[in-house]
Amino acid sequence: MSHAVCPEPQPCWPAVKETGPIFFDTHAHYDSDAFDPDRDQVLAGLADRGVALVVDPGCDLPSSRMAVELAERWPFMYAAVGFHPENLEGVERPDLDQIRALAAHPRVKAIGEIGLDYYWVKDPEGRAKQRAFYDAQLSLAEELDLPAIVHDRDAHQDCLDIARAHPNARGVFHCYAGSVEEAKILVKMGWMLSFTGSITFKKARRALEVLEWLPMDHIMLETDSPYMTPEPFRGRRCDSGYLWRMAETVAQIKGLTTEEAARVTMENGKRFFRIP
Ligand SMILES: [Zn+2]
Repeated sequence: MSHAVCPEPQPCWPAVKETGPIFFDTHAHYDSDAFDPDRDQVLAGLADRGVALVVDPGCDLPSSRMAVELAERWPFMYAAVGFHPENLEGVERPDLDQIRALAAHPRVKAIGEIGLDYYWVKDPEGRAKQRAFYDAQLSLAEELDLPAIVHDRDAHQDCLDIARAHPNARGVFHCYAGSVEEAKILVKMGWMLSFTGSITFKKARRALEVLEWLPMDHIMLETDSPYMTPEPFRGRRCDSGYLWRMAETVAQIKGLTTEEAARVTMENGKRFFRIP
């Protein structure tokens, strides 16, 4: 069976296979134009590939709107809404009111993708704007009692400091690339860490050290589709059907079966996003 596009969310749910790993892709950009040629086919085929749930985080207003539309249309999809740090050009404070309005939709389960990216943005003004919007969107997440999905690239200390300034926020550092020390602080704060196909790359030593230490109930899995395709499939467009490689990698590190890793990370994701 596969997910049909149903007018009402309930009738074709659950349509996933009863056996085998059941995966929750907590971060995939199906609103991306990389899926324009065949989005419906890819989404319709996910159930047969063991994928039961997907969260699509927006990166600006159009992509947040599209994430909500996809979540309205596909019963296994949920949306997050927010401004990604690389998408702040021309964005002003009042634009956050539109994020607030979108977040009222029942299929929106988080504020994201927000955060800091110092890899692509080097100038001090651009970085200051990123910090201001990250801070403001964490406040919005606190106010709306939604979790935050945080992107941190080459900005570990600032990302952590701003998160710590929001004691009532809860969130996930996605595609986690920090150290074990930073992971310990995040776990103490009750935050989650999520891992992409980058944990299957040859240079993944640091992420594997983090995973070795990290308590299982703080781990979520994601593809960050269409990016971050795991080994040995690099070079292809990523989709949620590759999530088993991340579950397999975590399972090896934690001494679990792939099914167990899939089940625990599914439970973690449902708890985090408050998905029944
Ligand atoms: Zn992303």
